[in-house]
Amino acid sequence: MLPSSYDSALVAASIIVAILASYTAVTMAGRVASSRGRAAMLWLTGGSFAMGFGIWSMHFVGMLAFQLPIELGYDITLTAVSLAMAIASSAFALWLVCQPLLPRRRLMAGAVLMGMGIAAMHYMGMAAMRMNPQIVYDPLLVIASVVIAIVAAGAALTIAFRLRSHGRRVLLARAGASLVMGCAIVGMHYTGMAAAGFPEGSYCGAANSGIDTQWLALLVIVVTLAVIAIALIISVLESRTALLASSLDRANDELVRMALHDNLTRLPNRVLLEDRLNQAIQKAQREERQFAVLFLDLDGFKAINDTYGHHTGDLLLIEVAHRIELCKRAEDTAARLGGDEFVVVIDIDDPDDAAACAQRLVEEISRPYRLNRLELRVSVSIGLALWPGNGANAHQLLVNADAAMYHAKEQGRDGYCFFEAAMNTAAHRQRQLVQQLRQALEREEFVLHFQPKMVAPAGPIIGVEALLRWQHPERGVVPPADFLPLAERTGLIVPIGTWVIREACRQMRRLVDQGFTDLTVAVNLSTVQLTHASLVADVRAALADFRLDARHLVLEITESTAMRDAETSLAILRQLAALGVGISLDDFGTGYSSLLYLKRLPANELKIDRGFVTQLVDGNEDEAIISAIIALGKTLDMNIVAEGVESPDQQALLTSLGCDTLQGYLLGHPMPADQLLTMLHEESAATSAIH
Ligand code: C2E
Ligand code: MG
Ligand code: MG
Repeated sequence: MLPSSYDSALVAASIIVAILASYTAVTMAGRVASSRGRAAMLWLTGGSFAMGFGIWSMHFVGMLAFQLPIELGYDITLTAVSLAMAIASSAFALWLVCQPLLPRRRLMAGAVLMGMGIAAMHYMGMAAMRMNPQIVYDPLLVIASVVIAIVAAGAALTIAFRLRSHGRRVLLARAGASLVMGCAIVGMHYTGMAAAGFPEGSYCGAANSGIDTQWLALLVIVVTLAVIAIALIISVLESRTALLASSLDRANDELVRMALHDNLTRLPNRVLLEDRLNQAIQKAQREERQFAVLFLDLDGFKAINDTYGHHTGDLLLIEVAHRIELCKRAEDTAARLGGDEFVVVIDIDDPDDAAACAQRLVEEISRPYRLNRLELRVSVSIGLALWPGNGANAHQLLVNADAAMYHAKEQGRDGYCFFEAAMNTAAHRQRQLVQQLRQALEREEFVLHFQPKMVAPAGPIIGVEALLRWQHPERGVVPPADFLPLAERTGLIVPIGTWVIREACRQMRRLVDQGFTDLTVAVNLSTVQLTHASLVADVRAALADFRLDARHLVLEITESTAMRDAETSLAILRQLAALGVGISLDDFGTGYSSLLYLKRLPANELKIDRGFVTQLVDGNEDEAIISAIIALGKTLDMNIVAEGVESPDQQALLTSLGCDTLQGYLLGHPMPADQLLTMLHEESAATSAIH
């Protein structure tokens, strides 16, 4: 046999290459596994190439390290075939570890196939030397090398499969795995080399290629390192972007979850509920099925919140949400609308199913709660609306279930109630109105209209009365009589009234700016406003902010308003009068003011109620009353206004009775500010034409 030796530098290089190739293999397996579709295909192709090239070049460098006392060379074709084998085995291995599962039997088959592939590559590479006579192989060592290849492949596959996902310390684990794998590959190679014996007098059939083996080794190593480096760099970059993309995905999911769920109870919120309701409607229509909407409102929750604090209230709500979830099936929806309001949507075969669910909820929720060492109790009122029948869309179903819930409350709480058409009446509409009224100010749904007041009998205009209008998004223009009583009962009249005062001043400022410097604007005050502490300051601020002389502003109060809490009203009215604003007694004749009290009021105008004017016919009782009022007013040195003048007869008669000012549809309807301006301009054009 020919004596053989190894170039130790090249052996070391081959080991390094083996380890790097293994590292690439493990990394690539991770990339392929975490990609989809085309990207996965690209990773598989690129990965197989890098890994196969690495394994092959380890083997080739190992061969180059092998030295015999004769000249050696390598058949290009056979060498290329051995490279192809390495790449094919790598592709197979990568594909195998990227399958979702790797059962033991498949692992073993894979290890055998891959090990044989690597061994075949090795012996094919040896054959590329085309030795003559043939290389003599030691069969035991050959078998050992194949076994090593198979075991190494098995270990490599197992490790690669486990390391596919990004775990913690994945880099360290990969490095360790690559070391094991690399050494196994090297071990296989050198065992295979040890198995080979070269008979004395052998010569290499592939020699005299003329290529210097040292240079060839260097070339192969450099190319291999380049291939591996490129693969790794791309992999790192790609995994960074993938990581970024996945954390963006997660952030996005969280945002969506937050936008669609209630923060406290984690139940779906109103937005998601409406979506689910729409889906339920579609499904019910398709499958001709029924479902029920249960509207839940806790009884006495506010008291618990007030007594034990918000924290306890929150804990209670979480617990209630939990119990609600226990009462429904997984496919049903439970949502929190806010506050202590919840909605449950359930599929039913029969209204009795809905009743049973409601009963279960009532019982479950009213069981005592243990929170912060407190034992608390709440009950719940539930309204039910059914599909089909109780509403044509998600919104109506909710509104009707809500109405039914209110009915349940009125019936003594702690129970449930099915919706009936009669429930959707006055009481419910009022509640809706209050809610909308609360938002009307910020949504800028209020406007002022202005009705002219004329010098009797037919002008000129000496002032206007500001009358409030609510431009309701659904109902159109709502007259004050339909919402003011509600605004007064709820206290909303205070902010609304302040807005009216400011808006009237703002419009008056416009009129003054356009040259109408002798007009007044009258604003109606309600009782609540008059007794509210901030009124005087608000009026003063409005005048100042719009640089308006106080004489431009008149405040209209009704007799009954002035009479309520007479002393306080009197004090406030005096302060207002002291500012210089006019005070007008509206709807005069409908109250029961004592003459004495009237005398003490700082009013300078008196408006005869429309009721007297409407009935006014020459010589009847109303004429007598009006004459008396006028006489009274004149004695107190007041300006007399008649409102509700609708006919020329009334106009003539009121003038002859001594009214100073007339107001009514005959002379002008309440109108928007711009229309009033046009009217004023027309009037001033007409008078200047006369003069
Ligand atoms: P009011 O102060 O007595 O206002 C006169 C009401 O009579 C206005 O009704 C006006 O449109 C109406 N009117 C005027 N001329 C005629 C006419 O010739 N024939 C008939 N049939 N009606 C006429 P509106 O605007 O519906 O206001 C009703 C009441 O609402 C007002 O009675 C006033 O008390 C109150 N109001 C209006 N705006 C405000 C406001 O900004 N604040 C407060 N607190 N109350 C307001
Ligand atoms: Mg008025
Ligand atoms: Mg009036």
